[in-house]
Amino acid sequence: MSYETFFKELNRKLARVVPGIEMAAVAETAWEIMGLKQERNAVILGHNYMEPALFHSIPDFQGDSLDLCRKAATTDKDIIVFCGVRFMAETAKILNPEKTVLLPVEEAGCSLAAGITAEDVRRLKTRFPGVPVVTYVNTYADVKAESDICCTSGNAAAVVESLGTETVIFLPDEFLARNVARETGRHIVFPTHDLRLKDTSLDIQMIGWNARCEVHEQFTVQDVETIREQHPDTYILAHPECSPEVVAVSDFSGSTNAMIKAVEAVDAPNYLLLTECAMGDNIAAAHPEKEMLRLCSVRCPHMNLITLKDTRDALRHGRYVIDVPEPIRSLAFEAVNRMLAIG
Ligand code: SF4
Repeated sequence: MSYETFFKELNRKLARVVPGIEMAAVAETAWEIMGLKQERNAVILGHNYMEPALFHSIPDFQGDSLDLCRKAATTDKDIIVFCGVRFMAETAKILNPEKTVLLPVEEAGCSLAAGITAEDVRRLKTRFPGVPVVTYVNTYADVKAESDICCTSGNAAAVVESLGTETVIFLPDEFLARNVARETGRHIVFPTHDLRLKDTSLDIQMIGWNARCEVHEQFTVQDVETIREQHPDTYILAHPECSPEVVAVSDFSGSTNAMIKAVEAVDAPNYLLLTECAMGDNIAAAHPEKEMLRLCSVRCPHMNLITLKDTRDALRHGRYVIDVPEPIRSLAFEAVNRMLAIG
């Protein structure tokens, strides 16, 4: 493909979401990345929360963390550049120990992943011996290594039910845990909140933790009511990291990929996504016929660190290399692989 064709195609995709004055610079950087990608035999994975200029220009694969985990598991390239946050790049490394995995910005973290440590999980396992541990993929490798199985927001309920046990430990997102408990009809307790847990006669079916996503925890029932007053008939979609109260007053709840599919399938005058704002832009760019409303006062400070320029520099300089030492990697691999077998 020539640069002119690439520019035209990019301009067509991004016309609604990138100011015209920025297009030439965006296209030039993206074009350079495409060349470097080929030269270095690299694959680029782009999470749904990446800014539109990046999301619609350079990734070989786009999607949510489950999707990208699967893609990471099948690539034959030498280098994986993960346009997402650190726990995602770690998961790619866990699945591909022989490949070089690059994260374009070293500090791209996550409030959820930072909300629990491997030592916390070990303490829980001592306190509730024999109870299987389900860990959301939004965790670091050492936490995954202490777990029996991982899950994503797309398959969390299926993973919990697949275990066939009366009780599960579900970590670390408080709201996802509450939403999954509701979906699977389980009573949930939080050792961090609930002092009555000393009483072993309590009927405990799910044991949660108190970490939260700093983006999704901020959406409120009032936000939903205000949108419904101002824009009646808006189809509102909430990520399951939002509180159960917000999920209950929304029209749909699901992973980022499920949200995209729901917007594509449902005919409505407007749509509002209660998740990272960039995803609304990305859907608007892909579906110009859909009217996306945005609540962009809350942004993910980690996902927003990753830009086209950082990605170019990652490929130019081979940085920042993500490493997961053994035996943490192979233990974490078991937990991730069990999840991938479920789907
Ligand atoms: S959106 Fe939330 S869960 Fe995702 S990376 Fe940002 S802080 Fe973490």
